[in-house]
Amino acid sequence: MKALTFQGEGEVRVVDVPRPIIGGSRDVLVKVTLGAVCGSDLHILHGQTPMNPGAVLGHEFVGVVEEVGSEVDRFQPGDRVVSSFFTACGHCALCRKGWFNQCAEKRTFGHGDFFGGLGGGQAEYVVVPNADNTMEKIPDGMTDEQAIFVGDILATGFFGAERAEIKPGDVTAVVGAGPVGLMAIMSAQLFGPARVFAIDMVDDRLELARELGAIPIDARDVAPVEAIKQGTGGLGADSSIECVGLLSAVETAINSVRGGGIISMVGVPSANEGEFPFMRVWLKALTFRAGWCNVQKYMRPLLDLIAAGRLRPEKIISHRMKLDQAQEAYRMFDAREATKIVLIP
Ligand code: NAD
Ligand code: ZN
Repeated sequence: MKALTFQGEGEVRVVDVPRPIIGGSRDVLVKVTLGAVCGSDLHILHGQTPMNPGAVLGHEFVGVVEEVGSEVDRFQPGDRVVSSFFTACGHCALCRKGWFNQCAEKRTFGHGDFFGGLGGGQAEYVVVPNADNTMEKIPDGMTDEQAIFVGDILATGFFGAERAEIKPGDVTAVVGAGPVGLMAIMSAQLFGPARVFAIDMVDDRLELARELGAIPIDARDVAPVEAIKQGTGGLGADSSIECVGLLSAVETAINSVRGGGIISMVGVPSANEGEFPFMRVWLKALTFRAGWCNVQKYMRPLLDLIAAGRLRPEKIISHRMKLDQAQEAYRMFDAREATKIVLIP
């Protein structure tokens, strides 16, 4: 089968690899019908996330069940499914508490040997282990493009917004209006904020943020923290949702909120350690939350919100390309010439 593989820092290539086979009784083989390129793929491309050369990429995908292991309960061949970007066992202590992102057996798709040695979804086929706790069926009448982001960026944006504890009438600031930031804006609107500020420096993304009801702040033109202070009578936002991962963006997220405010970070940190403004956070009695999205908890409600027409995540898709063009897709997404690219195998 065809698959996009990592070849070393800065290089990805579509090659022929053996079609994966079901190994365990809880595995499902999925024929991928649509994959997507994610900001986390760029961390791999740039060598910030470790990855072994030759490993298949892609952790955002939907498809059709081709084959199921003997102990799979919830799926049958022919089912249309969306997968979380990581597997969960469903029975360890933290899965039982609903923290699937802390599963003792968690493995991440498209991240090679360092994250569990799974295949990836930027390919024609992928094996999904622990499928009963990793995938959801796509409701009838919902398109692949509507469903695909439930397994990663939409769940992440929603997770970020929920943990920002937005109350009706609040002001929230979304730092970064990439795909995750745009999903955070869309999700934040469900909680009834009076205003959502969106900070970025890419025209198309700021324009999409505006279309989603946010007030765009172009960080090339103005100092974002000052702009938010000016727009809130000098106070700052009630909460901020960090959707970049750079320490400078975390700094903006912290400085954008008022005393007693909440910072909710979902960007993957660009460094393992760094300075943290302990005194400022303490003096302003801030709440700082961060984390890897707890996707499995949100997939079902998000599919219901999409089915009801209350979320339209497919709006952010800017390019539809063939899997064969994946190398060019990575270049375009990395250069921010595309907002969100989906790949058709
Ligand atoms: P992206 O790289 O396309 O988007 C990042 C955006 O931030 C860009 O539009 C960029 O212009 C903007 N930006 C850069 N520096 C900024 C700054 N200082 N202030 C404001 N904006 C700035 O990536 P994405 O797909 O939107 O993903 C965003 C982050 O979320 C990545 O780090 C990704 O790895 C992470 N992520 C986390 C999870 C999770 O589970 N927590 C899931 C998916 C993605
Ligand atoms: Zn991702």
